[in-house]
Amino acid sequence: MTRSTETETESLPRHTARSVEDLRRRGLLSEAEAVAAARVGERYAVAVTPEMAALVGEGGYDDPVGRQFLPHPAELESRPEEMADPIGDDPFTPVKGITHRYPDRVLLKPVHVCPVYCRFCFRREKVGPGGEALTAAELEAALDYVRRHPGVWEVILSGGDPMVLSPRRLRDIVGALDAIPHVASVRLHTRVPVVDPGRVSAALVAALRAARETAVWVVLHVNHPREMTPEARSACARLVDGGIPMLSQSVLLAGVNDDADTLAELFRTLVGQRIKPYYLHHPDLARGTSHFRVTLEAGRALLSRLRGRVSGLCQPTYVLDLPGGHGKVPVGPPYAEPDQETGSWTIQDPWGSRHIYPPTPDSAQDPEDSR
Ligand SMILES: *Cc1c(COP(=O)(O)O)cnc(C)c1O
Ligand code: SF4
Repeated sequence: MTRSTETETESLPRHTARSVEDLRRRGLLSEAEAVAAARVGERYAVAVTPEMAALVGEGGYDDPVGRQFLPHPAELESRPEEMADPIGDDPFTPVKGITHRYPDRVLLKPVHVCPVYCRFCFRREKVGPGGEALTAAELEAALDYVRRHPGVWEVILSGGDPMVLSPRRLRDIVGALDAIPHVASVRLHTRVPVVDPGRVSAALVAALRAARETAVWVVLHVNHPREMTPEARSACARLVDGGIPMLSQSVLLAGVNDDADTLAELFRTLVGQRIKPYYLHHPDLARGTSHFRVTLEAGRALLSRLRGRVSGLCQPTYVLDLPGGHGKVPVGPPYAEPDQETGSWTIQDPWGSRHIYPPTPDSAQDPEDSR
């Protein structure tokens, strides 16, 4: 490996930092921090793009962006409830690269690499330069699985980050899915427009537009309003202007976005960029991530504070992906509670006061009964 040149250290580095040593050389970790984090870099993948490095600046671990990407010694502390496969993907893997948990949709994971590695990643044991991409034959077998399962209505490209693929390869995959009559929707879950916005080229947008029959959606992973830099906004605008609808997903992370002001600003920023907040994920029980964990009570309290305060467009669904592969469920505040005796309901308004909603007459049918 050649050392970084003088010009690189003076101006914004053009390359992704890929090791603890790289991060130290660029001043993102101090000497002492780099020593303490050395073993983290041996256990988990590390990558910080120049764009994200510029955002972190001098802030280090105290910066809400730095905290997401800079390896920290706390990652070596595993708690008993933490797991290598926190959301139970493994038992739902019928062929390499496919996760089929819900009847109508599958995850298709063509790559295992990402442009950055998030320190809280739920797939941290699987992603990284060690994990190889699907070979052409494996990808074909995965596509064949989708072809053979007419119940699969939607394919979610995940990974790794599918937007690291070249526009040509993305076009091939989108084209192959478009040709499957029962696939009506394709979603890409990605962090690229934020962390490596230059990748969202005209050729990439054209590749996603190649589908004729199938709707193609992009779901952006973004956790803090500062991540929406002018470059990230332009990248998202290129997609939306190109006719690709965008949603966002965020992870609720201690010390990053676990306060109502930050979340309100994040969701308003996204809606202002024509991106609809879709999910706010309760953090998964991935190994070495307990320093990011928030309690469900705190998460619910944050969500109720947002409800009275910001536009309905700015309200994602707060979800938990159940450990063991039992799926995602909303875990947001319970606004409505039934009173078994009277049949009435107690319902909380957006500002926290409770109101009685009257019982429904017996003549009304339970919708389940009428099927
Ligand atoms: C998260 C996930 C999905 C997508 O779930 P939605 O609720 O439709 O967004 C699909 N399959 C698997 C295996 C998942 O983990
Ligand atoms: S971009 Fe997604 S898959 Fe990649 S490290 Fe971050 S959370 Fe994990």
